[in-house]
Parts: sequence; C-alpha cells; structure tokens
Amino acid sequence: MTLTTPHQHAGPGEATAHHEALLAAHSAHNYAPLPVVLSHGSGARVVDVEGRSYIDCLAGYSALNFGHAHPDLLAAAHAQLDRLTLTSRAFGNDRLGPFCAELAALVGKDMVLPMNTGAEAVESGLKLVRKWGYEVRGVARDRARIVVAAANFHGRTISIVGFSTDPEARNGFGPFPDGFDVVPHGDAAALRAAIGPDTVAVLIEPVQGEAGVVVPPPGYLAEVRAACTEAGILFVADEVQSGLGRTGHVLATRGLGGVDADVYLLGKALGGGILPVSAVVADEAVMGVLKPGQHGSTFGGNPLAAAVGRVVIGLLAEGSLLRQAVTLGHLLSTELDLLVGRGVVTFRHTGLWAGVDIDPELGSGRDVCERMCARGVLVKDTHGATVRLSPPLVISEDDLRTAVRVMGEVLSDMRRDRSRRG
Ligand SMILES: *Cc1c(COP(=O)(O)O)cnc(C)c1O
Repeated sequence: MTLTTPHQHAGPGEATAHHEALLAAHSAHNYAPLPVVLSHGSGARVVDVEGRSYIDCLAGYSALNFGHAHPDLLAAAHAQLDRLTLTSRAFGNDRLGPFCAELAALVGKDMVLPMNTGAEAVESGLKLVRKWGYEVRGVARDRARIVVAAANFHGRTISIVGFSTDPEARNGFGPFPDGFDVVPHGDAAALRAAIGPDTVAVLIEPVQGEAGVVVPPPGYLAEVRAACTEAGILFVADEVQSGLGRTGHVLATRGLGGVDADVYLLGKALGGGILPVSAVVADEAVMGVLKPGQHGSTFGGNPLAAAVGRVVIGLLAEGSLLRQAVTLGHLLSTELDLLVGRGVVTFRHTGLWAGVDIDPELGSGRDVCERMCARGVLVKDTHGATVRLSPPLVISEDDLRTAVRVMGEVLSDMRRDRSRRG
C-alpha cells in the first residue's frame, strides 16, 4: 500500500458511488456513513476504492487501538484459522484457558466470562450483578435495581437502550425492562441518593465516550467506589471503549480514578480490530454465582477470538503502546489547544482520545467530518457539535499533526464561508 500524503479531492468517484448505491438500496439505513468506501488499511492509514489514502482518526471507535493489520494480530489470526476456529462451549478448546488466565491477570481479577460484542458484555454484566444481588446480597426476587448515569452509552439491545437518556436510541423500541435508576454523570451526591435497599450495582463508563469523551470531575470515581463499598453493592465499570489502552492505561477506572471496580466490561480493542471479542471480568465471589446452563453464547470464547485476544493482552502487558498513548495524547492536546477560539469552543481529552466541540455558528460536527474526509482525514461527529478523535495508538506523530492541521484548515474554511455569508 502506498502511503501518500492525504490530499484534497473533488468528491466521491464512480467506484464510491457504486458502493453507496448498493448500500442505499439494500442495507438498512441505520447509519449515515461519510462518503468514503474503504478497501484496505495498515496502521493508522486506510485506502478507499478510488485508491485514496486517509488517516483513520476513529479507529473503529477504539476497536482498532493497535491499528489496521497489526502484524502480530494478523499472524495469530492466520495461524489459528488453519487450526480450529469454533468449538462452542459444549467442548473445551486449547486457546480459551490461557486467554482467560491471561486476561484475568492483566485486569487483576479471578475470572473471565467471554462474550462477543460490547453490548453482550454489558447484558452479561447486568445479569451477573442481578444474580449476585439475589444470591449474595439477599434482595427480594425480581426487585433488583441498578444505578446508571445520564448520557450513557452501553450498546443497542432493548434493556440497554431502555436506560439510555438519548431519545434517538430509545424512542420506538419500548417496552423496556424495569430496574434502572438514572442519575447525572459526575454527581456523586445524586449517585449516593439513588442507592436504595434493592440496589445491587452502579454501572458507569469511567469516561463517557459516545457522550463526547466526557472525563468525570476529579475524585468522582473514588466517590463511586466509596458509595458502592459503603452500600455493599457492586461497582461495574463499562470499559468497552475506555479500556485497553485508549487512556494510556489498561483500565481507566484505575489509571485515571485510582480505584478498582468490582466488575469490568471489556470489548472493542479486545478483538484487535479483527473480530468481536468481549468479556466480563470479576472476582470469583461475584462470577461464582453463574452456574452451568444459566448464561452462554455460541461464539463466546471461540478459539479464534481467544487466540487474537491473547495477542491483544500481550501487546498491552508489554506497555509501550500505553506510554505511546500518553505521549501522543499530550501532542494531540497541545495541537488542539491552538484551535480553541479558531472554530473550536472547547475540547476534552484523556490519553489519545479527544472530544472537540465545534463552534455551532460555523456548522455541525458532521460538516467538519465531511470536509476533513475530503482532505484525507477520517473522524466522526457525536451529538451534533462534537467531533471525536481516537486514532490508533500506533499512529505516527506526523499523521497525528497532519490530522489536527487538517481540522484547523477545515475550520478556517468554515470561518471564511461564514464571513462571506455575512
Ligand atoms: C461501543 C460500546 C458498547 C457496545 O459495544 P458493541 O460492540 O457495539 O455492542 C458498550 N459500551 C461502551 C462504553 C461502548 O463504547
């Protein structure tokens, strides 16, 4: 693959238009992708069907923390493809035990419940803490409650969107399961007040990714920990996006908050960008409530997923990518600082992860993404005016600088266009 410098192009070409027409006619319209159709990639670079190179600053919503086509991940996947790919959990496989042991060690807990997607990890976590609530905490049957945060994003299943506060995610999909109490994110007093005798757990994202990379106020995660400990309930950290390197730590709860959750939900990067791999990780005192037949998944813990997941664990344990996330994160925030007041209102960041609020007078986050795409940088908007940056942790300094420079150019174009409009 040629790594040409990204450059401005006139608009979607014929091959792109062909693929877009197929999607328009035959794919559900539950996404509105940017006008780019990708065909291959390596590291932080992807190439579209017209042969144009882009810097990927979304990284599959952090599923591609190690970049596209990481050689170690690919080698493990290729080797495993030729040996054994699926056994179901009706039988054992020789990859699952080592994967569980290594992931448990990385996270510092006893046991791993392997699943596939992030939403499944969340659903499994909810089932786990409810069962723990009945069997260990002694909550009366069907009374268990779980406290969650406003502006959460935990996935797209019915129970999960049922406690979303985003009308787009919820509306039209009810009725929803009962048993969730929503409190403002970052407000420890509200969280404490919501914990009642039937509460079994608090479920939060230590950093809210989809909400726009919302980092909690200092001390908040420690307050959540203290509130859960005092009430004798479980702290569940959804680290599907914040975990596995994005913040410069294996776990944001520990790395940023300095505290330990009882249950960790992992996904996205756990599959190395190759296949969906997720997991619930907890100590035996919690995970032990699940007995044979009570929960499962046809694909969860399959040998291909476990083989790739073991390499992910190895890459994280080695440590250099975590340091890279911190170093590049400093560069990212330094570069973004220069755009504040020049089309950027403010931005939030942690590790190699930023949510950039665009001046709504200039246009929407989507406008910024479309213009950046035309200049060879792929980013994604969220909630109207925010642009999220989460490049692969393997991105070069040059590409990172280029990406922010392109954002600056786009914003200055938009400022020029606005002044022309008058
Ligand atoms: C993406 C995400 C999920 C859902 O993961 P899927 O693999 O899309 O089901 C859950 N929680 C958080 C915090 C996420 O970012």
